[in-house]
Amino acid sequence: MSEDGLPPLREVIARHGLDARKSLGQNFLFDLNLTRRIARSAAPLDGSTVVEIGPGPGGLTRALLLEGARKVIAVEKDARALPALQEIAAHYPGRLEIIEADALRYDWAAHIAGDAKIVANLPYNIATPLLTGWLTSPWPPWFSSLTLMFQKEVAERIVAAPGSESYGRLAIISQWCATAKKLFDIDRRAFTPPPKITSSVVQLIPRRERLPACDVAVLEKVTAAAFGQRRKMLRSSLKSLGPEIAKVLDDLAIAANLRAEQLAVADFARIAAALGSKTA
Ligand code: SAM
Repeated sequence: MSEDGLPPLREVIARHGLDARKSLGQNFLFDLNLTRRIARSAAPLDGSTVVEIGPGPGGLTRALLLEGARKVIAVEKDARALPALQEIAAHYPGRLEIIEADALRYDWAAHIAGDAKIVANLPYNIATPLLTGWLTSPWPPWFSSLTLMFQKEVAERIVAAPGSESYGRLAIISQWCATAKKLFDIDRRAFTPPPKITSSVVQLIPRRERLPACDVAVLEKVTAAAFGQRRKMLRSSLKSLGPEIAKVLDDLAIAANLRAEQLAVADFARIAAALGSKTA
């Protein structure tokens, strides 16, 4: 038995025939010390609902419950994992709700009430679309923090500062919506099977308001144009946004000879706000 009184994860996997499937981004964590460390990063856990995406055999789920989560809602696409998760639910009566669903299509706001924290070892193939989906949904959001595992390279793109090579669309949308911090790396050998690259845990705390205010769709258009040609000056990379862009930059006192990576997150939102009001 493990310290939570449940069988070791390797035994659970063998008993339920949960061989890892690449198509579902399945790389499991067996070390309860490690999953408890991830769970503790999202503390305090006793005052809110914790939403976990992709619990799989339940390594992180068990850690969240051990660390005192009042209620965990676990959303898993792979039906094979459900019996293993039901054993955990039986061990912690009333504290684990299991939902079989595709997280990319799930209507979160309709199902999750009150303050929720998202904690997940995300499947790599859907990690970025899930994050951007949450950040571009109606604001203020239904979650109060996101503690998520990404490939290290994606984590660096989320927290990147202007001027760095990783600074781009993901940094802009993430930092416009939230404060974003990389907490720690996890060696690839901690996973079964080990992925090719190192992982990192990132925490995002959503801002009450996304300032400067602008239309998310316009902001995405601006950053797509700017970073689509990141070596070019704004005057040419943003040309596709319409003839008024030169005047917009001028009015905002943003030099048209800068390149995308030299602009602060707030400047992109200011451009989007000005363009949005012109096209409205
Ligand atoms: N939480 C477990 C752990 O830390 O060991 C498993 C993490 S594994 C990287 C990703 C999990 O997400 C798998 O259990 C996989 O089946 C699940 N998953 C993959 N695509 C999903 C989707 N679209 N919606 C919900 N879960 C998904």
